[in-house]
Amino acid sequence: MEPINLVEEKFAAEIENKLGLNRYYTDAVLLRHAFHFIPFEELKVKATLRFSMLDDEQTEVNLEDCIVIELLHWFKNSFFTWFDAPKCELCSITAENRGVVEPNSAEAMYGASRVELYQCPKCQKHFRFPRYTDVKKLLQTRTGRCGEWASCFTLLCHALEYDVRLVYDFNDHVWCEVYSQARNKWTHCDPCENTYDKPLLYELGWKKRITYVIAFSPTEVQDVTWRYTTDFDKVLRQRQGCREEFVLSCIRFFQTSLEQKLDKDELSTLQYRRLMELADFLTPPVHVGDSYGGRSSGSMAWRLARGEVVPKESGYVFRLTPEEISRKRFIIKYRCADDKYVRTTSGLAETVGWNACVHTHSNVFRKVEEDWKMVYVSRTEGSPIGIISWKFDFSGSDLVISELRLQLHSETFENGKVTCTIAPNCNEANKKVYSSGFARSLRTDDLNGYSSFLLSVELTDGSGSNAWQHSQLFRQSTNSQEYPFEVEVIFDKNN
Ligand SMILES: [Zn+2]
Repeated sequence: MEPINLVEEKFAAEIENKLGLNRYYTDAVLLRHAFHFIPFEELKVKATLRFSMLDDEQTEVNLEDCIVIELLHWFKNSFFTWFDAPKCELCSITAENRGVVEPNSAEAMYGASRVELYQCPKCQKHFRFPRYTDVKKLLQTRTGRCGEWASCFTLLCHALEYDVRLVYDFNDHVWCEVYSQARNKWTHCDPCENTYDKPLLYELGWKKRITYVIAFSPTEVQDVTWRYTTDFDKVLRQRQGCREEFVLSCIRFFQTSLEQKLDKDELSTLQYRRLMELADFLTPPVHVGDSYGGRSSGSMAWRLARGEVVPKESGYVFRLTPEEISRKRFIIKYRCADDKYVRTTSGLAETVGWNACVHTHSNVFRKVEEDWKMVYVSRTEGSPIGIISWKFDFSGSDLVISELRLQLHSETFENGKVTCTIAPNCNEANKKVYSSGFARSLRTDDLNGYSSFLLSVELTDGSGSNAWQHSQLFRQSTNSQEYPFEVEVIFDKNN
């Protein structure tokens, strides 16, 4: 079946691309090389101990499964590292992301099609992070994000002769599945999370949107979405990109070509397992047992950037009143001293509480310093990042934004940092970043022609145990009459 739109084309291309990784997993020389990295005897001793301590109710697990559990643990704690923004050793500050650049020839040689560029904001030094796909290279670099983690872990499982799949979630995460002989089942394994058999972690724990979750191995491609959701109907509604018949025919196409390389025994094992798996997929899994936490890999900033740590949703959205529409003007002000918003353009309406009008917030609070008589909004003690956002949706009238005037007073101490971003149409992909540098006043026609935007502020960095206090918003004295935050929007008729 031919693809009829870009999404279907991309779906097929992704499957082909992931199947390309099989060349590493079937390379006997590489598998022997990989095996030498694994402290197998040590893992086996620990696994034996773990296995002997299992009670009778858990006899579904065998020693091989316990070795996988130990391998996950060792992989995360002793072998692979999570890649965050690099630190400039000279200036001992974190370098800033400068986007993606083309690989040089040495990087391209190891399958890096993208290179992330970072720069030290102080000494301007550049740092490159090539996203290698060559799994042999990853045995050497031993760092990356979920893609690198999962493909390297998959290699190590192959090296230990497990049947293993690389599982690719089309909403930007990658993990593995290892076949458990004891249970006759493909079992979820997430090396980034050191997690074994918690397939509902993403949907229930991370509140991730599940659409396509596809498993790859040298012998098969399988749509395993149904292992990772409790709500089939919802997932089907979310799978809008490709026709379901296309998904099926695409998988069948690649599956057929993989099966041609199998001998009779391999084929019958495969068919038996696929049948069992499909039977398993007839009914949605039910969540029992412990609660699902947020993810444990990666900095909080990265997690929040991907929306997987769900900030508290106040969900407030500023919309135009008839009065504002006729005046073609919108002004909201906030004073931290009395913790009040004033809607200047709409009868001076007041709203009490900094969080009453925010769209989302995470790890922030309003701090009153009684002895100094100062007040401000900062992140909560001990949290690495605080986020607060305001949403403005002015659609639904015939007005579009002409100009935005923004006053957003922030103060930083030590190396604390305040970063303000504005996303036209509330589309995070197009957001523009303003550092705390603009301090008090910004006048921009960047939003010209749009009718909505999201204004977000991130409070980060700082040093020592008071780091949380080193980036502050709206700092003022407790009896101040000034407004440290003011958003003014001027409109045009849409024509
Ligand atoms: Zn530097």
